[in-house]
Amino acid sequence: MTILTPAQEKLRDEARDFTATELLPVANKLDPQHADIPWSIVDRMAELGYFGIMIDREYGGLGLGMTEYCVVTEELSRGWMSAASIIARANGTGSAVADPAWRADILRRQAAGKFISAGAFSEPEAGSDVAAVSCRAERRGATYILNGHKRWCGWAEAADALLILARTAPGRREGLDVFLVEKPRGEFPPGITGTPIPKIGYHGITSWALEIRDLEVPATHMQVGPNGETGTGFALFANLINWGRLHTAARAVGAARGALEDALAYSQDRVQFGKPISSFQGIKFRLADMATQVAAARAFYLDAAARFDAGQDCQQECSMAKLFASEIAEKVASSALQVLGGNGYTTEYAVERHWRDARLTQIFEGTSEIQRTIIAQHLLRQP
Ligand SMILES: Cc1cc2nc3c(=O)[nH]c(=O)nc-3n(C[C@H](O)[C@H](O)[C@H](O)COP(=O)(O)OP(=O)(O)OC[C@H]3O[C@@H](n4cnc5c(N)ncnc54)[C@H](O)[C@@H]3O)c2cc1C
Repeated sequence: MTILTPAQEKLRDEARDFTATELLPVANKLDPQHADIPWSIVDRMAELGYFGIMIDREYGGLGLGMTEYCVVTEELSRGWMSAASIIARANGTGSAVADPAWRADILRRQAAGKFISAGAFSEPEAGSDVAAVSCRAERRGATYILNGHKRWCGWAEAADALLILARTAPGRREGLDVFLVEKPRGEFPPGITGTPIPKIGYHGITSWALEIRDLEVPATHMQVGPNGETGTGFALFANLINWGRLHTAARAVGAARGALEDALAYSQDRVQFGKPISSFQGIKFRLADMATQVAAARAFYLDAAARFDAGQDCQQECSMAKLFASEIAEKVASSALQVLGGNGYTTEYAVERHWRDARLTQIFEGTSEIQRTIIAQHLLRQP
């Protein structure tokens, strides 16, 4: 099992303390109201450095790696998965513009929590098959004109910028680019209208369906490859999704741990047949299985994160860690709900929230079926 360094343990303990004292009470109050993460929480997360964990120190970040990013993610997700999600909308995401001065400015603002983006990749007809994106970007002089529909864009209205995946040339993977559209917080820019999507969970982040009509974007706002290459939209998305899989594995473990810890506490308080229910073997064994699954999923994502930090090609391990964590998270959260009996089936306890959030981890950042497809392709040497 991966052992954390003292510095990583310190970072984890700070995040654990923030979650217990500041984040969890807000989540328990606001999630049932379907309210977005408040800016006061975003600002505190910025002070703690969570939007710049993987940004170099010269830009004001913590200059750390994927391991630390995942460790913090698990802690935040133990309190509120939505809050764990928005750190992925900074930490370098969207900074691949060609102008080095602008890039440095984006990184500085991200590290300070002043540049939080939203990813508009999925479309009504392009989910798992993201290469089927049909949102068009047509060049007119120094500008691109974007038209199309996007679905599921989380935090879109609140964000400081949108990252829009659009088709610049016919084809599939090769004809895609990502455009950075800066905008004021709490508004959509001219050319975009948004409609919130009603969901059964993940309430701290409103997800939007977007209609993009004649949106003008300067050509300089296109994300480019390390040597200024264009047509890199799919590669950029694929790179982000590898990060996203580890981040989601950590989010799943956090949600599962929240459910486990709540069930553990409840089982010691709740008395039936004259004894705490934790004294019954049926409950003990259930708790033991839940704790084992959480520990295994954590060890798995830490191993994959260590490979990522070592610069290894770890696509298969990222998919495995995401698949395993998201599958056990729903089972663990469901088991926790059972420990709470009827109270588990109410919104008076947070277990049902962890269960709904855990369920989502099997769908976004590549469904469980897509992870299995990737893993099988590696096994069969057909990546
Ligand atoms: C709450 C939420 C938040 C999201 N946030 C964002 C966001 O911020 N930005 C963004 O761009 N997207 C976002 N997404 C979109 C998310 O990435 C997609 O929902 C996901 O990729 C699945 O696509 P789909 O929903 O269109 O399902 P589909 O692709 O239509 O899949 C339907 C079913 O078919 C299965 N399937 C599809 N292809 C295959 C195959 N080849 N083999 C086997 N089974 C297959 C799937 O596994 C699934 O079970 C979000 C989604 C949700 C639910």
